[in-house]
Order: sequence, then structure tokens, then C-alpha cells
Amino acid sequence: MTSLTASALIVPKHGDSSVLRVEEREVPDPGPGQARVRVAASGANFIDTYQRGGVYPVETPFVLGMEGAGTVESVGEGVTEVAAGDRVAWAMQLGSATTVATLPAASLVPVPDDVDLDVAAAAMLQAMTAHFLVNDTYPCTAETIALVHAAAGGVGQLLVQLLKAKGATVVATAGSADKLAVARERGADHVINYREHDTGDSLAHAVTEAAGRGVDVAYDGVGQATFDASLASLRPRGLLVLFGAASGPVPPVDPQRLNQGGSLYLTRPSLGHYIAGREELLARAGEVLGLIADGSLEIAIDSRHPLADARAAYDALEGRGTSGKVLLIP
Ligand code: NDP
Repeated sequence: MTSLTASALIVPKHGDSSVLRVEEREVPDPGPGQARVRVAASGANFIDTYQRGGVYPVETPFVLGMEGAGTVESVGEGVTEVAAGDRVAWAMQLGSATTVATLPAASLVPVPDDVDLDVAAAAMLQAMTAHFLVNDTYPCTAETIALVHAAAGGVGQLLVQLLKAKGATVVATAGSADKLAVARERGADHVINYREHDTGDSLAHAVTEAAGRGVDVAYDGVGQATFDASLASLRPRGLLVLFGAASGPVPPVDPQRLNQGGSLYLTRPSLGHYIAGREELLARAGEVLGLIADGSLEIAIDSRHPLADARAAYDALEGRGTSGKVLLIP
């Protein structure tokens, strides 16, 4: 095997989207346990913005991007998980926004023939997240009433679909009339424009009024702007699932607030901990890709951007201008 060069989206120093650059980089031959993948598409995610800005510690310079899909070109010594020619996808692997990626073979999952590679790339991070949130972080059933913030977003649309497939009742929030319509199309039972509520109490009041009672579980990937409302929307012993911070990080919380709300629970989960071993990764990815293949889970692709246009892609994502997955096409 010979080395080759790849175009990669680089963060040369921490900062806003203006720091992003596309550079040619040498790709070494895959080492033991690694596979070299020709990338068909990679996804832009909020975690990229936390890493780019230095909120999550990643030493610069680094290649951005935590998920993708493509075709295996070659494998290193001892690789049994995949072979050249396989269509594969992955999540939580830094360095995905590139034409050619060298990845741990054990991080790659097979993509069914009837799922396009760009759809698989779009599903890996957001759909596996929605999947663990409704199945494992809180086991939702037909009796569950769930609050989903930013319900027209990437994870949000998937959460609504998976919750409705279980027969749960969904109270959805979003920031515009168009986005509320998207949440409704996905099956949300009640929709609320949270921009019309100045305080957490006002939003929580709207949520509990729509739900008829406190919700069992609040899925909150918005963070700072919605945290108070999420907590105040719960029934006694309800669960607040804080899974992101699209509006900014939540300030430190006094645990006494959980007591005052009625012995509430709070968790801050990450996908990485729910695909911790190869067996769990294969099972979760297999289930998600299977739901996509049989048409029961729809992946909304908001937009596709060449790597050179990554700045616009991230500006749209961070600026509340998207509704679904933002893809980077190398
Ligand atoms: P989205 O497509 O949901 O985009 C974020 C949305 O949040 C916006 O479109 C916007 O919707 C809403 N929002 C509200 N306030 C703000 C604000 N001040 N700035 C920006 N957005 C705001 O993104 P994703 O689906 O990719 O991710 C959603 C959340 O899930 C993120 O916090 C992300 O970090 C998290 N996440 C967590 C994972 C985990 O393992 N814990 C894995 C994957 C994602 P509107 O206009 O309707 O208000």
C-alpha cells in the first residue's frame, strides 16, 4: 500500500467558524486494527462547535468531524471487522471531515444495501442518540408523556418519531412557526413556540397545560435557555435528560432544586457511553439503520455542503437556521 493525500477540514486554532480551513494532508497506510475509508459524506454536529471553540478539550491543529460513511479501501494488520469494498458508517471518531479517513476498524458498522451512504452518515450521531435517549436513558412506553425541545432539529425530529412509534405523547417546542409545523409533521401531539415565553415558569406552564400534567421525561439539548423550564415541567420523580447545550452551557445547579421539584432526577448522557463496546455499537447502529431501511424512521437532510463551504454549514447550524442534518460532502 502507498500513502496518499486527502483534503481535510482543519481547525488550526480554537475559535469561531472563521478559523476553519481545508488543507491537503498525507494519509498514512492503515496500521494494525485500522481501516482506510473513502468518505462519501460526514455530518456537521454541535459537538464539532464545542471542540472547535475549545469548550471540549482537543489539541489543535486537528481534523474536524465526528461521524461519516464511506467505502473501505484497505485495512491494516489483524483487521477482521471489515474488508476492502465494504460500505460502512461510524460515529464519535474525530477526523471524519475529510476525503479519506483512517479509522479504528472496530468503530465501523455495515451499511445495508438499501440505505444511501449520505443517509447513513446523517443518521449515525443524531439517530443513535435519539435511540439511546428513548430506549435506555428513559425507557419510554405508550404511557409516557415526553417534552422534546428543539423538536424540528436533527435529534429533535428523530426523538419525536421514535417516541411516537412507541405510542408516547409528545409535547414539542421549537423557535418558529415553520419549525413547529415540522414537529407536527413528525407526529408531535402538542407544539409550543418557546420564543413566546420569557421565563422558565411561563414555558413550563404552557408545557404542563398542554400535557395535562407534569411530563415524565424532558429531553433538553438546548441547555441554558430551556433548563429551568424543563425542570419545572416535570412530574414528581420525573427525569430531566440534559443531552446538549445548543444555547450555551447550564450554570451550576443546586441539588436542592431537584428536591423542591419533587424528588426529580437529572442526567447528562453522551452517545459514547451508549455505544461503549462493539456489541452495543453494532446492535444500536443495526437497529437504527434497519428502521431507516424499512421506512419507519425518516432522516431529514437539511443541506449538503462541500468541505470548502463548511463555514456556512456551521454558521447555519449554530444560527438556528437548520432543520435536520447538515452534511459535508468531501
Ligand atoms: P439541532 O438541529 O437541534 O440544532 C439546534 C437547535 O437548537 C436549533 O436549530 C434551535 O432550534 C435550537 N436552539 C435554541 N436556542 C438556540 C441557540 N441559542 N443557539 C442555537 N440553537 C438553539 O442540533 P442537533 O440535533 O445536532 O443537536 C441538538 C443537541 O443535541 C445539541 O445540543 C447537541 O450537542 C446535542 N447532542 C448530544 C449528543 C449526546 O450524545 N449527548 C449527541 C448528539 C447531539 P429552534 O430554532 O427551534 O429554537
